[in-house]
Amino acid sequence: MISPGLLERVACPVCLEPGGCKHCARGGSGHRACAAEYAARAGCPCGGPDKVRLGPAAGGLQCPCCAVVYPLDPEAGYVDLVPRTAVGEVTQYADHEFHERLGATDAPPLLSARVKADMMRRMLALAPGESVLDLGCGAGKLALYAGSGGVRAAGLDVAPFFLPRAAREVELVLGDLRRLPFRKAAFPRAYSLDVLEHLDEAGVGEVLLEARRVLGPDGRLFVYTHAMESSWLARFQRGVNRLARRLGRAGLIDHEREAMRKSDHRNAIRSHEHFETLCAAAGLEVAERRYYNVVFKAVVEDLLLRLYQQAGRRKAAAGGPAHAHGRAAATIGAPAPGRAAVALALALTWLLKLDVVLFGGIRTGPFFGLLRPRPGERA
Ligand SMILES: [Zn+2]
Ligand SMILES: [Zn+2]
Ligand SMILES: [Zn+2]
Repeated sequence: MISPGLLERVACPVCLEPGGCKHCARGGSGHRACAAEYAARAGCPCGGPDKVRLGPAAGGLQCPCCAVVYPLDPEAGYVDLVPRTAVGEVTQYADHEFHERLGATDAPPLLSARVKADMMRRMLALAPGESVLDLGCGAGKLALYAGSGGVRAAGLDVAPFFLPRAAREVELVLGDLRRLPFRKAAFPRAYSLDVLEHLDEAGVGEVLLEARRVLGPDGRLFVYTHAMESSWLARFQRGVNRLARRLGRAGLIDHEREAMRKSDHRNAIRSHEHFETLCAAAGLEVAERRYYNVVFKAVVEDLLLRLYQQAGRRKAAAGGPAHAHGRAAATIGAPAPGRAAVALALALTWLLKLDVVLFGGIRTGPFFGLLRPRPGERA
């Protein structure tokens, strides 16, 4: 969805206004300063200059600084603000096949996805009427959930494979996380789930810096990602994973999807202290953190449920034509699961929440973090 409110907030992804503090102001140097000094200017301790507003042009929106025209097609349901010049490596998330095989539906998230989504809602404390931005929204499933209860959701992703309902109900932008095409303080509430681990260290730093500008002085950013750490509890999880791999080799579990999801992990965050350093460099600090030790999730979701699903798939395959239906269901906009299955999954979700309630204080790699601008660094 493209609303007038969204068009008020967007900006050229690569162009910074000439104004700024005595360190980052570049009056009169035009687009040359954007192209050559982007990192230094955007990363200025003052918070950096704002990004350049786009003006109307034939067929789209035009940046008065770099003169690029970003086409605007209301039918598409999203604004394409991907930088026209390369800003770094592109992840597998830009691969259509990869997206399709993840099999998103527009039903509310369940199981561990719901645990993460509800942690996001709790830590950001979203109120009706507020807007929230999903950084790396994928198909838009979580944005649809975040947008329930009177909250307005917006999402940004580099690949345009959005759910049809997300294209209707969520403010969608096609863009690069390292060059957010938004004005300063456009979204005081934002979140990013399962995204930072896909970026290299420089990329994580850039995303945090860009988020800092878009959040504004009183903003909050929720993240779910992981540091390369582990807890004594993780030994249990590794045991379950080993068992799952063994069952995968025996054909009793589909291990492929999980392996694919993790296939382009860069895991740049070495420790929680390292993450704090990256945040500080971007003018942010960790206000709240909760760890995610997956004990119930490992048993229920990674083992029992996958055994059950694979048994179902084998049964369907034995039934012949039902197999073709299974393939179709794996595409974007697949039908939602039945009511009994949803009720069971909701009950299991509550069980999975115990992982956070009981073990959330035990330091380990995966974590939920609430970030805010560091005091004294008000943009
Ligand atoms: Zn400055
Ligand atoms: Zn420029
Ligand atoms: Zn521009």
